[in-house]
Amino acid sequence: MDAEFHNQMKICKKCSLHETRTHVVRGDYGPVDGICFVGEAPGFNEDIQGKPFVGKSGDLLNKMLSTIGLTRKDVSVINIIKCRPPDNRTPTRKEMQTCGNLWLDKQLQFLKPKLIVTLGRVALQYFFPGLAMTKNKGKIQFVNSKIPVMPIFHPAYVLRNGHAMDDEYKADFAKIRKFIDNIGDLGSVLTPSKNATLDDFF
Ligand code: SF4
Repeated sequence: MDAEFHNQMKICKKCSLHETRTHVVRGDYGPVDGICFVGEAPGFNEDIQGKPFVGKSGDLLNKMLSTIGLTRKDVSVINIIKCRPPDNRTPTRKEMQTCGNLWLDKQLQFLKPKLIVTLGRVALQYFFPGLAMTKNKGKIQFVNSKIPVMPIFHPAYVLRNGHAMDDEYKADFAKIRKFIDNIGDLGSVLTPSKNATLDDFF
């Protein structure tokens, strides 16, 4: 994977979502071998700015990361779909497969995350079609029998429920912290400057 990968992503027209996008939202890359948060698709603010998880959802994600001693620079944050669906509609399975196979899967192959944290039902079901969010939230699943995936709620969903879910969301992030502490070799998560990130390659 080289700079050409992102050049091709920026001009991608492989599905109809390119017709209404302002920007292709590539995602933010943290350390290789670190933690990768995977969301559904860009929303209004992300489309305008070309960055993932900005606005209120991004603020909540940042706040939750801070509760476990991390910042956005310590993790990767990527959406399955790179172009905003009109009116923030849920992406179709076909759109997710097209975009995911083209871009996300290759990003993950390069990032080699020690843990993927899916944000919301749609992101969970990209990896595990049909798996229920409520029964599996906070529990580790395995992609291809090797990459651990922990589903948690999407920050937008938590915001819609007001402060009622604050403690539950904090508890989910505490599980991520516990995973990091238990795995023991995620030094790169906490000291990203000492480790190569994808941005070093472009
Ligand atoms: S959503 Fe993905 S596949 Fe569709 S045009 Fe955008 S980058 Fe290409």
